[in-house]
Amino acid sequence: MPDTPSVYDEIGVPAVINAAGTKTRIGGSLIREEAVEAMADAATGFARISDLQARASDLVSEVTGAEAGYVASGAASAMTLGAAAAIAGDDPGAMARLPDTEGVPSEIVMPRTHRTGYDHALRAAGAEIVDVGTNDYHLGTGAANVEPWEIADAITDETAAVGYVQKPYTQPPLETVVEIAHDHGVPVIVDAAAELPPASNLTRFIDLGVDLVVFSGGKAIRGPQSTGILAGRADLVESAALQHLDMHAASEAWEPPESLFDVRDIDGVPRQGIGRSMKVGKEELVGLIRALELFVEEDHDALVAEWQARAERIGDSLGAIEGLTCSITGAEKTAVAPEVVADLGDSPVDAADLVAALRREEPRVYVGADGLHNSEFTVNPMCLTDEEADYVVERIEANI
Ligand SMILES: *Cc1c(COP(=O)(O)O)cnc(C)c1O
Repeated sequence: MPDTPSVYDEIGVPAVINAAGTKTRIGGSLIREEAVEAMADAATGFARISDLQARASDLVSEVTGAEAGYVASGAASAMTLGAAAAIAGDDPGAMARLPDTEGVPSEIVMPRTHRTGYDHALRAAGAEIVDVGTNDYHLGTGAANVEPWEIADAITDETAAVGYVQKPYTQPPLETVVEIAHDHGVPVIVDAAAELPPASNLTRFIDLGVDLVVFSGGKAIRGPQSTGILAGRADLVESAALQHLDMHAASEAWEPPESLFDVRDIDGVPRQGIGRSMKVGKEELVGLIRALELFVEEDHDALVAEWQARAERIGDSLGAIEGLTCSITGAEKTAVAPEVVADLGDSPVDAADLVAALRREEPRVYVGADGLHNSEFTVNPMCLTDEEADYVVERIEANI
């Protein structure tokens, strides 16, 4: 499984059957064939990266409603660029000094319950995260985690932005946070990396007035793994571009695309910025553009229906295995796709041992492991064919 050897076999690396969903550590999602073709084509010639970024910016504006857009080397990189833009603005000196932020506001205020491992990406630009509120709701010691006034109270002259992680259940509501931030004259940066589909989320956060939002290009958009989208205010995207593009240009001959930035606003060519270590190639840019065009045209209801049907089939098969009880979580409740939650209950089989054994197989079988402490594992239908789904069920049964 599968029958024909892949390049992974040829180079001696065990392949993975992905029953865990769009997880970066096992390669994200399957890039669209049309995007791969476009990348192969892009690899046979040259284009100015800034022209490609300007073209991508037009497309991102069109599909998100934002003033401007930019392609980074992942949603995490887009977060770093967004933070760098919020901190340095249009000041080439501040850009050159990042991640040293002396003399410029560099705090990013975030609800404590929005802190994730990914916020290192904000700190990488030099930002200091000021988290506010409590974890009362999570711990069961109270009804609320963060009150809107606590966010307002934390915004000072040192604040560069307010950070927000978008999930269907995150609190306080984004519109409230946007209102507070804007009342205090600071931008809101939203991490919505995995919040597609629904495709309506492309425009939703911009409609709510956020200043910058990031999406991963390598999850449901199915573009190149190492792409992410930054969308939002033109001045912030311009700052991000100035801190990301290769800047070894002779100033006399520097004519970047006007839609990306107006050279007259800038005192000379900035130095290589904080984003230079996260470059995006011409192939990735072309691949992302192609994938995003196709994503917005896609019938997402049909896709969710396909995932739902596959999840139900997997759930029925797994539920028939002795010792396993299965349920299906709804699309959008905890994830963008329905997932099968398999509970080992009182079975003598340890969930962590089972998951680890599946991962040691060849090919490796990856099921979701976020619920191991509850003797649960999950099977996500998004990145599986029906044939692979049968194989996953077979391997789980063989290991129980
Ligand atoms: C996946 C993810 C990221 C990172 O996205 P990349 O495109 O892999 O950089 C950031 N934040 C959240 C919440 C994510 O789920």
